[in-house]
Amino acid sequence: TKWVYTFGDGQAEGASNMRNLLGGKGANLAEMANLGLPVPPGFTITTDVCTYYYENGQSYPPDLEQAVESALARISRQTGKVFGDPANPQLVSVRSGARASMPGMMDTVLNLGLNDETVVAVATAAGDERFAWDSYRRFINMYGNVVLNVGHHHFEEVLEVYKERKGVELDTELDAADWQQLVGQYKQIVERETGKPFPQDPKEQLWGAIGAVFGSWMNARAIKYRELHDIPASWGTAVNVQAMVFGNRGETSATGVAFTRNPSTGEKELYGEFLINAQGEDVVAGIRTPQDITEQARIASASTRPSLETALPDAYAELVRIYKLLESHYRDMQDLEFTIESGKLWMLQTRNGKRTAKAALKIAVDLAGEGLITQEEAVARVEPAALDQLLHPTIDPKADRKVLATGLPASPGAASGAIVFTSEAAEEAKKAGRKVILVRVETSPEDIHGMHASEGILTTRGGMTSHAAVVARGMGKPCVSGAGSVRVDYAAGTLSSGGVTLRAGDILTIDGGTGQIIAGEVKMLEPELSGEFATLMGWADSVRRMKVRANAETPHDVRTARNFGAEGIGLCRTEHMFFDARRIIAVREMILADDEAGRRAALAKLLPYQRQDFVELFTIMQGLPVTIRLLDPPLHEFLPHTDAEIAEVAESLGVPADKLKGRAQALHEFNPMLGFRGVRLAILYPEIAEMQARAIFEAASQVSKATGETVKPEVMVPLVMTKAELDLTKVRIDTIAKAVAEETGVTLDYQVGTMIELPRAALKADDIAQTAEFFSFGTNDLTQTTLGISRDDAAIFLGDYTAKGILPSDPFVTIDREGVGALVAHAVAKGRATRPNIKLGICGEHGGDPASIAFCEETGIDYVSCSPYRVPIARLAAAQAAL
Ligand code: PEP
Ligand code: MG
Repeated sequence: TKWVYTFGDGQAEGASNMRNLLGGKGANLAEMANLGLPVPPGFTITTDVCTYYYENGQSYPPDLEQAVESALARISRQTGKVFGDPANPQLVSVRSGARASMPGMMDTVLNLGLNDETVVAVATAAGDERFAWDSYRRFINMYGNVVLNVGHHHFEEVLEVYKERKGVELDTELDAADWQQLVGQYKQIVERETGKPFPQDPKEQLWGAIGAVFGSWMNARAIKYRELHDIPASWGTAVNVQAMVFGNRGETSATGVAFTRNPSTGEKELYGEFLINAQGEDVVAGIRTPQDITEQARIASASTRPSLETALPDAYAELVRIYKLLESHYRDMQDLEFTIESGKLWMLQTRNGKRTAKAALKIAVDLAGEGLITQEEAVARVEPAALDQLLHPTIDPKADRKVLATGLPASPGAASGAIVFTSEAAEEAKKAGRKVILVRVETSPEDIHGMHASEGILTTRGGMTSHAAVVARGMGKPCVSGAGSVRVDYAAGTLSSGGVTLRAGDILTIDGGTGQIIAGEVKMLEPELSGEFATLMGWADSVRRMKVRANAETPHDVRTARNFGAEGIGLCRTEHMFFDARRIIAVREMILADDEAGRRAALAKLLPYQRQDFVELFTIMQGLPVTIRLLDPPLHEFLPHTDAEIAEVAESLGVPADKLKGRAQALHEFNPMLGFRGVRLAILYPEIAEMQARAIFEAASQVSKATGETVKPEVMVPLVMTKAELDLTKVRIDTIAKAVAEETGVTLDYQVGTMIELPRAALKADDIAQTAEFFSFGTNDLTQTTLGISRDDAAIFLGDYTAKGILPSDPFVTIDREGVGALVAHAVAKGRATRPNIKLGICGEHGGDPASIAFCEETGIDYVSCSPYRVPIARLAAAQAAL
């Protein structure tokens, strides 16, 4: 087996299509080398070695050492330096690189190969003592931290004390002798903390770092990250070893990161940050504030420090040439890392850049416009779930606000919530149903769970590429980073700025689009759905086969659904219309009535309300199909339960409390989800279904007359298990339809259909389709009844089930293809066999889940129906499924 792939000097053994074997970083380093770009020579140890390592008791393949030796020799042939040679040492970097970029793993060790001897040779060769000792102390700190597990703060503290004694503030004020002193102290720290001297043998250092990369694949943070992102542990990571180039060799050296387009807005402009005389970790760590790359950005940010464009114009010109080449080569926005050593530019990484949903949309539409990709590719490029970010509110620009401070606009969208200072507090608040803003000096991979639990994130340190900014953009959460004027005091639990102090629990608003930090709550605006959004959705609509409807009943939700492009209502849950203050009284009277006459009297009071609901619904939907479901939940849901509530309701209804209590007790069910609900209500109390049918048909006739639009109501019967249930109910509905037609003179084109949400209904779909004119798969109940897992009680154990891999994912979120999906597919085939033109939809929560939508496409379903905010997601997911 070939374990090691080399690159450099205009050639490579790998290429970008080998990311499974070489990891993302290794594959792209090889590709850049193949393109003739300036890449420091190096080699990639494959992910196969990682697999071998874990399958063989954390040991290496016997022939790996030899392969690494010859790859090091190949570097020497290009640089003229020798790894481990005390007189002419080659230093290297060691970096991890999995298939997908993975925070949480050991990331980077720079300057490896330095020891008490080689540091002297490096100083002599560079003619710069300070540079050599500065590199050595960085190496001890980094290696000590990531390989030997010595806390970073030990080194920081010693450095702080040293600077204080010397009376200086900045690292740059320390000279060679200072760093040499500190190297001695750093080595003592390592010896004290690990019980062993800092390793002096470069080979030992190298294998220590390689082992740390492979070891970090299985650390808790990496495992957590993989869990959150569905990355299998079997992928493994690669290790990249590369000749060092130095950004810390003085004023003509620098290091930086850049995006070929703006990752927040998608604007077509080189966008990034760099630091003169620095090494990679300085930019990301946020210790020094980085400088802008382009002059235009510097002017926009009103920075007084020069841009790369003016500071190092030749290197800048080279960067511009390369970024354009890489973007058109990869046909996507790239995220670049580079180092400039004594004026010469070196490329250390390129990858498809992470971006906000807004940027993803703009970039996809622009790339298609520039002819770099097709419209269909553009549709495929935008992750449907990410659209969520665009569909949420932003701060009303006209709203009054008390701006405390302004940080960097790191991830767009606005959010309000109570201030919390720890990820633990964020998680607790989330569990208690409270919305919070996580406020930190900076975040680290340990904060991922807290960031997940928060509405938004505020940090006081770090730039646009800091951990908080990158992770928040990935999650689609608003984030303001680097708010330097805000003081956070963890011990006191306070945040202060400009004389104002807020405490944990106070409400804070952040605007990730502008960077504003605002005390209290602020008025928000609904999202803007024109521009690139409309363009891309248009392209998506033109490739999509399935229709997209919405689950909605209130006028507000129905309108939202229409604005988002819903092509009908797939599920109107009529029970939601029964809860308003006046209607609930009539509903309760109906439940408490002693006989049919009493129920009919109460239902007569409900009829006008219900009819008006449907008039509004049909009017907003302007002739688009509307599926209205008959009353579904068990009746006890409408009754009060505690003694106090019972007393209050009994008084307002004018009935004895005992009677109300007795009825509530009589209706009590041990398992209401499998009890007296759905079509079973219509069988025992057909007058309820009749009232609802009358309201539907009267409203449809009224709107037809008023607007001239043909209204096509679809009456849906829930929880059917046999054809007989549906037959009995359909007769009642048809009778009412006839009566209303005679009364109004309007003959309606309506349909009666059923939900398929019980396994028996799915199995007997051929029978049921003899009566049903459409099926709508209620996959919430179908999942509950097929798996025998209560949808309301699943949380206790479902998390463990997915964590242990017993279920691939939460079956209430993504359809269980093998079980529930098989029933759906069976019912589709059987239903069509009986009634070839039967209309088939899905209205469970799965209707808005991209993976489940792909299943619906494969199964030949006609439409998906989902909550209004998911309509655009479903439109895009349906398009991608059809591609
Ligand atoms: C379903 O069961 O999937 C469904 C849509 O109905 P409900 O969620 O109202 O039970
Ligand atoms: Mg249901």
